[in-house]
Amino acid sequence: MAITKYIFVTGGVTSSLGKGIISASLAKLLQSRGYSVTIQKLDPYINVDPGTLNPYEHGECYVTEDGAETDLDLGHYERFLNVFTSQANNVTTGRIYQDVINKERHGDFLGKTVQIIPHITDEIKRRIKLLGTSGKYDFVITEIGGTVGDIESLPYIESVRQLRWELRNRCLVIHLTLVPFLAASGELKTKPTQHSVKTLLEAGVQPDILVLRTEHALTSDIKNKVANFCNVQKESVIESRDVSTIYEVPIEMHKEKLDERVLTLFNMELGEKPDLKKWKNFLNRYKNPKHDIKISLVGKYVELKDAYKSINESFIHAGSANEAKVNINYVHSEDVSEHTYVDLLKDSDGIIVTPGFGHRGINGKILACQYARENDIPFLGICLGMQMAVIEFAKNVLKLEDANSLEMDRKCKNPVINLMEEQKMVTEKGGTMRLGSYPCKITKDSNAYNAYQTSKINERHRHRYEFNSNYEEMFVKAGMVPTGINPQTELVEIVEIPKHKWFVGVQFHPEYKSTVTNPHPLFVSFVNAAIKYNESKKI
Ligand code: GLN
Repeated sequence: MAITKYIFVTGGVTSSLGKGIISASLAKLLQSRGYSVTIQKLDPYINVDPGTLNPYEHGECYVTEDGAETDLDLGHYERFLNVFTSQANNVTTGRIYQDVINKERHGDFLGKTVQIIPHITDEIKRRIKLLGTSGKYDFVITEIGGTVGDIESLPYIESVRQLRWELRNRCLVIHLTLVPFLAASGELKTKPTQHSVKTLLEAGVQPDILVLRTEHALTSDIKNKVANFCNVQKESVIESRDVSTIYEVPIEMHKEKLDERVLTLFNMELGEKPDLKKWKNFLNRYKNPKHDIKISLVGKYVELKDAYKSINESFIHAGSANEAKVNINYVHSEDVSEHTYVDLLKDSDGIIVTPGFGHRGINGKILACQYARENDIPFLGICLGMQMAVIEFAKNVLKLEDANSLEMDRKCKNPVINLMEEQKMVTEKGGTMRLGSYPCKITKDSNAYNAYQTSKINERHRHRYEFNSNYEEMFVKAGMVPTGINPQTELVEIVEIPKHKWFVGVQFHPEYKSTVTNPHPLFVSFVNAAIKYNESKKI
């Protein structure tokens, strides 16, 4: 059994400095030195989970194997570590308060006054230590969302202060800040970092390591200055310079000796040098592509790239696997109309129609499916994207003009996409969809089978609606066939048009399972079909 060490990652100066990427990179380095690591994200908002949040707020909602709707940083953790996360890896203030209030209602506090300290902080600490109690992990890295000094973050920082005291030398705090460059004077400025560390000190927490985001190299003088003002050793001041891809960060952090520093401060063996061969190989292929393709991504949140985070990253993984540069042409589904679709989608080597909810922009999605189908352009439809491909086929091939999803039209006469039976009684919104991993059986000789090279797969879900099997015979006769079925419920998980070059719609979300060392087979195969299509156009 490992004696678990706890590493906290806090952030200061501004948000969006990349605590998630620093946490994931450190975890990767420790993992590649042979240690077992997991990463947890604490989010200071009052939603119980991000499942009910509009993607415009915090970007994509990531789904784990066990069906937790989580922050998108968990996607980074999985993509870097290639290890599944779970509900325990993402905790929000809402969940903490909900648990404490439920206990209070249950009478568990025996008449005591329930307070932020100790009751809320105790619950936060319990959630942090929970991952360590399994004995599975040498390290639990806990990323604290938000920025030091926010009112929302206070109970979390206070919990870190208490845990430092309780865990003593089994605990480290890494603080990530920004060193801005003032172009007018040509100088890097350390004052915001000093102030940020002071704020942390006011809350009783002395950071052990400072990671400084910067656009320019930090001189030895700057590092000395920060070390002096912030009570850390100079070796514990780590530079994190902007890089062209997030996947460079582990390599850079290794060069800066972040992993060595952590192990030294814990008095642990440095052990073998990290084995990053596969990682470097991935980067090498990514940076030296032999092909160049354009995939049009049709969705209603394209203004905010984070809304499609896992899809974007899956294309990076699949691009590297195929030695291809995948250029994503983001197309707003509301911009796609009878008059614009050819212009917006022309020259696409592949078209992907994204997941989503509600009717905004669906006509554009349907037109994109039609354009891909009629022009034999490789197509991948994910969740709502698959449902739109089914509706398009029903309207234009089966001539069921009023075909629709019950989600869009409650009174629809031809609901080719139906509300799932188990969803009919559901009224609560949070955590009530069909969520998480379910098995699927794939038909031999289909595109999906050729991609996965197996007939038994498990994929993650997040939906309420499904393909209506009453229409299956009509679809099959006309050339759109289910090629993946849930073996227990017979729910249609995959549809394909066998006559088409590569036309696959999936009810599940393959993007959640693509990682650097395990690029997702469907994305790899889709990118491969797009490369072939691109080359066929040159002949
Ligand atoms: N809105 C659709 C459903 O609930 C699709 C969901 C999705 O794309 N994740 O079935």
